[in-house]
This record gives sequence, C-alpha cells and structure tokens, in this order.
Amino acid sequence: MNQKFETLIIGLGPAGMAAAIKLAQQGVHVAVVDENPEPGGQIYRQPPGDFVIEDKSFLGVRYRVGQDIIRQFNQLRDKITIFSETTAWGFFEGTTMALEHMGHIELVEFDKLILCEGAMERSIPFPGWTLPGIMTAGGLQKMIKYQRLLPGKRFLLSGASPLQLSVAASLVKDGAEVVALCEAIRIKDSLKLMPEIIRQKGLFKEAVSYLFPVLKKSVPILRPYSVISASGDNRIREATIARLDEDWAPIAGTERTFEVDTVSLGYGFLPVARLARLCGCAHVYDPVLKSWKPETDIFMQTSVANIYTAGDSSGVDGADLAEVEGRIAGTHAAAELGKISMDERDRQFKSLFHTLESIKRYSKVLNRVFSPRSGLFTIMEDDTIVCRCERITAKEVFAGIEKGFRNINEIKKTRVCMGPCQGRTCESIVTELMLQKGIPIEDIGHMTIRPPITPMPVFMFEEYAHSL
Ligand SMILES: Cc1cc2nc3c(=O)[nH]c(=O)nc-3n(C[C@H](O)[C@H](O)[C@H](O)COP(=O)(O)OP(=O)(O)OC[C@H]3O[C@@H](n4cnc5c(N)ncnc54)[C@H](O)[C@@H]3O)c2cc1C
Repeated sequence: MNQKFETLIIGLGPAGMAAAIKLAQQGVHVAVVDENPEPGGQIYRQPPGDFVIEDKSFLGVRYRVGQDIIRQFNQLRDKITIFSETTAWGFFEGTTMALEHMGHIELVEFDKLILCEGAMERSIPFPGWTLPGIMTAGGLQKMIKYQRLLPGKRFLLSGASPLQLSVAASLVKDGAEVVALCEAIRIKDSLKLMPEIIRQKGLFKEAVSYLFPVLKKSVPILRPYSVISASGDNRIREATIARLDEDWAPIAGTERTFEVDTVSLGYGFLPVARLARLCGCAHVYDPVLKSWKPETDIFMQTSVANIYTAGDSSGVDGADLAEVEGRIAGTHAAAELGKISMDERDRQFKSLFHTLESIKRYSKVLNRVFSPRSGLFTIMEDDTIVCRCERITAKEVFAGIEKGFRNINEIKKTRVCMGPCQGRTCESIVTELMLQKGIPIEDIGHMTIRPPITPMPVFMFEEYAHSL
C-alpha cells in the first residue's frame, strides 16, 4: 500500500522549507523529498554527515541567514515526513510520485504537489571547455565551502554573475591565487544595480563582505572580459581571455593568456523544472533568463490542478524570493485543503505580496543586467563540443538545422541532448544556436522528458517488478 499525503513537496531549499513550515503549522499531513541528507538546498547547504566546519564565518553571511529557516523547519520535524537522500524521478496517474532511495523504489500519493526543484548553472561552451580543471562557479564554491577542498592553486574566474565575487572571496580567504576575475558586464551596467543594493541593506553588507577580501588581495577584476579558450593535455594549463563588445562577442586583438590550473565559470542559473515538465505543466519562454519556465498564477499554481511550483524552479529570483513564494504556495494549498479559511489566506497574503513585490523589483534588475548576450554563444568554434554526454559538436547541430530540424525534439535526431542528462546541460545551448539561426522560439519549443528524469539503477526496476 502506497503512503499518501495531503501535500508532497519536492526540494528542501528555502522554497520547499518555507512551504513545509506553513503547511505543518496549519496541521496539513505533509511530506518532503530531497536528494540531500539535510535541508538547506543549494544556498543553505549543510556540511555532509559528521563533517564539522569549526570556523562558521567561512561559510559566509548567507549561511547565517539560512540558519533561521532551518531552525524553524527542524522545530516542526515531528509534524513532517522527510524523505532525505531520495530522488523524485517519475510522475504517474496524476497523483503518484515515484521516489528512489538507496536503490529502492517507493511510490507516494498526494492531494497537492509543490515542486521546488531549484536552479542549475548555465553552461556556455568555448574551445577547450570540457578539459578537467574547468568547473562551474557553484560547483567550485560547494567544494571550498562545504568539503573544504581547494581543487587547484592558480584560478581564473569568468562569467556574468554576482556569485563570481563570492567564489573569489572564498578562494582568497583559503589562500588560493586568483590571477583574474573576468566579468562580462560593463561597469555602467553594474551601476544600475546600486540603488537596489543600497535599498536592501542585507545585500549591501553581503556584497561588501565579498568585495573586501578580493580587493585586499589585489585580485585583478577585468570587465568586460570573458574566457574564450582553454588548452592543456590531460587538464587545463592555459586560459585565454578577451575583451567583449556591447553584444558580449570577443574583440579580436584584445586576447591575454594566463597559466592556470583551474577555471571557474559563472554565467548564472537556469530554472530546473524537470518534474514540472513531466507533470505536463504549461511553460513560457523567458528571454531574459534565456530559458523555459513553468507558467504560474500569483498563488504559484501551475496550469495543472493541484500542482504548484515555487522558488528558482519557477524563475531564478534568488533565495529570499524563493522563501516568500514557498510560503505563498503553502498558504494557498492549506486554504484549498480547507485547513484555513480563504479570508485568513488573504490576510496572510497581504504582507507576503508586499515583500514579494519589493524583492522582485531588485531581482528583475539583477536578471536583466546579468542576462547573457548572444555574442557569448559565438565564442564556440565548429568543433567545440556542445553536448558533453554524446560528444556532439556545434557543427553537427548546425548540420541538423540545415537539414530542416526546427524543433528541439527533432534536432535530437543528431543525438544532441540524447545522453544520460537528457539535455539538462545542453538544451539551453542548442536552443540559443537555433534562435541565432533565425528559428522562432515557438517553433523550437522545449524538450519532452520521460521518467526516470535522472539515471537510475536498472536492478531497482527488476526488484520492484518481482515485489508486485
Ligand atoms: C550551484 C549553486 C550555487 C549557488 N550559490 C549561491 C550563492 O552563493 N549565493 C546566492 O545568493 N545564491 C546562490 N545560488 C542560488 C540560490 O541557491 C537559489 O536562489 C536558492 O537556493 C533558491 O532556492 P530554492 O528553494 O528555489 O532551490 P534550491 O535551494 O536549489 O533547492 C532545491 C532542492 O531541490 C532538490 N531537488 C531538485 N530536484 C529534485 C528531485 N527530483 N528529487 C529530490 N530532490 C530534488 C535539490 O537537491 C535541492 O536541495 C546558487 C545556486 C546554485 C544552483
């Protein structure tokens, strides 16, 4: 007999935790699922197992902010069923989610589903980008902060994201050499952020806490610059950067080469909405994020009845907004389940909507300023790999477009997006290449997804079949 819950939440970042807290407080029979052992999501990630980080200041301002919501969540643990180290991989019959835990399948049923899958880092290919030693900024930050690992000695950072400064600060505090921090946005564009940063006092303090150690170590901050190629034998040895024009295309003759052993790439985030797609939720294309995202109303309700999505999976707006959206989804679900009256829901919404608007004003400016411009996608060459799983190059994608493939699901005939990650990394890149060839986004569409949404051990299905 499958377990059944009034509400099932996928993801225990700020959005999922906020929704779970709201629901548990209203007496809803709620369960939460997350791949990680502890709540926190990407931003408030907890150190693994018995691993203790004594100097908590190393985890940054944000870590301290996160302790508050984690504490609230932990206080309600006895009212919440927690599926930790568990992956949600399939959605069946409209009300059943398939989970995997330690190689075993479990099916759970729900009345309401809140998807808080978070975000992932955007990849932008360039010649040599698949060499060992080249990694995403968030991945690098995770190693430094939570595993206390420094994967190299001489680092070059390149991207267009506030995360870059936070990673640079962690690196220099840990004694690494940062040869340059290349930022694609121009100073005049960063200045557009100033009024909002000053208005949000916490943000100002956070930004200064990252900038100070970077300036103290005299890390060269080069803008508008980006890495354009990397070379090495079995790992990166050299990285070349170039100045960017207004469209973020490299300007010939401005190249500089650095000897490095690690390159960090921070070109922002994309919503992760694999389950929302699997559940059949309608999506819209966001030209600023350069990504599809689930369509929601103000209550975070998707186009499918009883399914909500909150946080970065519904549009990348940061941890503070994720928390507010989680509370909105939780409050609305509790009202629909009859645990609070609609009047009480509306009373609670008043202050939530007010906070939401104020954070959205800032995140809108932030997303617009850091939105990658099309010149960045011209850095790749014909033989640059676009799809890492299937080793498909840009040339092969262009050949597919010339053959007449105008839809992202058709172009999979070239085997692009057909590997184990099901296009998780390369869908956004291929979409951009198709857009640049003049295909309208409505024709390109988004990829269909099938369960399991992530690779799963085959024996698990055999074992399950035998148990029936
Ligand atoms: C790598 C990375 C590093 C970041 N670093 C910073 C930073 O330094 N500063 C900053 O301000 N912002 C940072 N961000 C952005 C910030 O993390 C988000 O804005 C914020 O965490 C959004 O909260 P959320 O609840 O929407 O999602 P998240 O915090 O991302 O939480 C989503 C959770 O859902 C889980 N999940 C997803 N799919 C499944 C599934 N199918 N089954 C089970 N569990 C699932 C994930 O494991 C994760 O724990 C980072 C984002 C990423 C991706």
